[in-house]
Amino acid sequence: MESLITALDSFFSDFWWKDVLDILAVAFILYWTLLLIRGTRALQMVFGLVVLGAGYLLAQGAEMSTLVWILENFLGSIVLVIVILFQNEIRHALALVGTNPLTGSNPSEQRRVLDEIVRAAGSLSNRRIGALVALERSTGLKNYIQKGTGIDAAVSKDLLMSIFMPFSPIHDGAVVISGGKIAAAQVFFPLTLNPRLEKILGTRHRAALGLTEETDAVVIVVSEETGKISLACEGRIYSRLEPDELKRLLEKLLAGENGQAPKSLIERLRFAGRS
Ligand code: ATP
Ligand code: MG
Repeated sequence: MESLITALDSFFSDFWWKDVLDILAVAFILYWTLLLIRGTRALQMVFGLVVLGAGYLLAQGAEMSTLVWILENFLGSIVLVIVILFQNEIRHALALVGTNPLTGSNPSEQRRVLDEIVRAAGSLSNRRIGALVALERSTGLKNYIQKGTGIDAAVSKDLLMSIFMPFSPIHDGAVVISGGKIAAAQVFFPLTLNPRLEKILGTRHRAALGLTEETDAVVIVVSEETGKISLACEGRIYSRLEPDELKRLLEKLLAGENGQAPKSLIERLRFAGRS
């Protein structure tokens, strides 16, 4: 009996919890990596590597020695290949450790950024200037940012206003905010194809919804036609928001990586789109 207890004891102390921890850590890293590269070009590159790996196995099975030799040499330095291919993603991921993906780690800077965005939305709404602002969360928006006009400047109400002024050469399309900065303007998103959408919603609102169907970004829309402020998230659009409601919703949504809009607020707000 005593030997059984000793055996169990050593089993649990040497093996069990360490392996569980090991598996949990790897699962977490894989999940986090997939979350980071979802919606970016990196995902296509991962598929490319998987296809190469499958090609290697097939070539080995078919005993195609030259192809095997080439792939073996290439895949032999796979760690180096991964570091080179994904250097941007790795840099981004390391920078994200311990920080809020939207605005960095400084809470007062987060509040300032949010305040500037909300004040800009209020002003744009009063003047009936159309605007579209996407806030990056855990899904990288780099592949959209790269196709826009790079800006990389601190978020301010004045800068947001100047971008969306009708005479501004970069007023068309969306602004993307990433890492607490205005990363780019003139960014174009895929339009939602949701047939349940109100007919009156035009391309600006459809682009906002389209992005939130593919990523976990939060998108603010100011309508040029009505001056109304809307917020899109997870394939839904919450319309006719007052600036203070927008601020409360944003605070909730950006509080954590997977922040959810508060139920009470969602129920109170009229929304269209997926439900
Ligand atoms: P509004 O209420 O402001 O009129 P809307 O939803 O009716 O908005 P449109 O009137 O079609 O939409 O708005 C056109 C503007 O939306 C374009 O000038 C452009 O700035 C923006 N836009 C259109 N398509 C996209 C897109 N795919 N991605 C980002 N922005 C877009
Ligand atoms: Mg319109």
